[in-house]
Amino acid sequence: MGKININEFTLEELEEYIESIGEKKFHAKQIFKWIHKIGVVSFDEMTDISKKLRDKLKESTYILNMEIIKCQSSKKDGTMKFLIKLLDGCAIESVFMVYNHGNTLCVSTQVGCKMGCKFCASTKDGFERSLSASEIEGQILTVERYTNKKISNVVYMGIGEPLDNYDNVVKSIRIINHPFGLNIGARHISLSTCGIVPNIYRLADENIQCTLSISLHATTDEKRQSIMPIANRYNIEELLNACKDYIKKTGRRISFEYALISGKNDSYEDAMELVRLLRGMIAHVNLIPVNEIKEKEYKKANERSIEKFMNTLNSCGIVTTVRRELGSDIDAACGQLRKKYIDNKKDCQKL
Ligand code: SF4
Repeated sequence: MGKININEFTLEELEEYIESIGEKKFHAKQIFKWIHKIGVVSFDEMTDISKKLRDKLKESTYILNMEIIKCQSSKKDGTMKFLIKLLDGCAIESVFMVYNHGNTLCVSTQVGCKMGCKFCASTKDGFERSLSASEIEGQILTVERYTNKKISNVVYMGIGEPLDNYDNVVKSIRIINHPFGLNIGARHISLSTCGIVPNIYRLADENIQCTLSISLHATTDEKRQSIMPIANRYNIEELLNACKDYIKKTGRRISFEYALISGKNDSYEDAMELVRLLRGMIAHVNLIPVNEIKEKEYKKANERSIEKFMNTLNSCGIVTTVRRELGSDIDAACGQLRKKYIDNKKDCQKL
């Protein structure tokens, strides 16, 4: 039997494991802190654990250590994009951004994406696999080690659809949120979904207070279907009903992401329809000037029409802001991340 990835255990699972190898349960807390709070990558760094136990752990488990193989820094705003190698040779991208409210990491949840949103690079080369909980949390540990900076906010907006990898994503949030781990408050964690309706209902019942972001991007089913295949499965009404349930159960405001595409969804009528849809909900609209990708299917709305769109919403009482574009010169902005491979796997894009 191969070695077990010890990062994958929640504290409770680690306690069970430690007892199963004949050791005292309290060691689990010490080990969990070393791995998730301090971020060590070797058992020998665990100075309050006996050599006997460290040797025992080395025999049966390993600490996940993901490697940064490329780092690009934006000349415009200091955003850093990391290419991180996974143990099977796949690679994902994570983006480190500096905001006034703290350092933020945008994490990936899958290698590629099956959702097929027309404006997004992450889906263009198809889907490979979902990430485990430890590979999701590991992006934070890896980037903190590399930058020597504490990350205080996490956004699940990188490659992949988080609610298509539901169990691992929820597990990773619990690990990231744990007081003996990174201890990042759920309110500092945002999860973005294209709208997998049943899993929005499930998430509302998890008792996690994370912020939910909905990639809405259109105000009619027809327009939404033309840019987001998920809209063929769940219509806007079903999606908004799930959002209302999330607000009711968690008391959290929902953020609606709206990528403005020139001539597609940026008219005055679109803005007024958005007002009608969101009226009465505790919501915030985040306008994203769509980021161009090499496939060049869509054009960015111009600054004047973005401002007009924002003013229309704000004047009707829908709180709306335009997202600051970070990292667009290194293809690190929304919708620009792509999966990569680093070995000779078939169909793989060589770096
Ligand atoms: S926007 Fe999100 S859900 Fe849609 S293809 Fe891109 S990564 Fe997938």
